Amino acid sequence: MNSWCDDGAGFVLFGRADGMSDTTHTAKNSLGQSSGPGPRIAREQATIKAMIYLYCQDHHGPGTGLCCDCEDLLAYALQRLEICPFQERKPACNLCEVHCYSAKQRERVKEMMRYAGPRMLLRHPVLALRHLLDKRRSTPKLIARPKR
Ligand SMILES: [Zn+2]
Repeated sequence: MNSWCDDGAGFVLFGRADGMSDTTHTAKNSLGQSSGPGPRIAREQATIKAMIYLYCQDHHGPGTGLCCDCEDLLAYALQRLEICPFQERKPACNLCEVHCYSAKQRERVKEMMRYAGPRMLLRHPVLALRHLLDKRRSTPKLIARPKR
């Protein structure tokens, strides 16, 4: 038995043993949308993927790939980014005023980031630095209603 996710049938975004080899996420292509996520969203997805891998490898040690829980969390996080209403104007998630994560997933992601965040600087310095820069952007308002 080397299958980690028997109960996750139908919801496997990544090959079970592909490690960090693939950083491009192309889930939208099957819908025939030409645009897909923009570069910023794609980068956020690459960042959170790297962080979850880092966290899972150090905590759950599934060998290659992710354990079931982390694969589930990653799929959830990638999907949140895909439907993020800000898209290319997205602020850092922890500064965002739209709380799009469920309470349970938010706790999981916060715990994961607390661990992986500082370590990202060592293991993925480029992604980490760009993430820090993103945090310095101002947070856009989702609804800018014209005054009447
Ligand atoms: Zn894990």
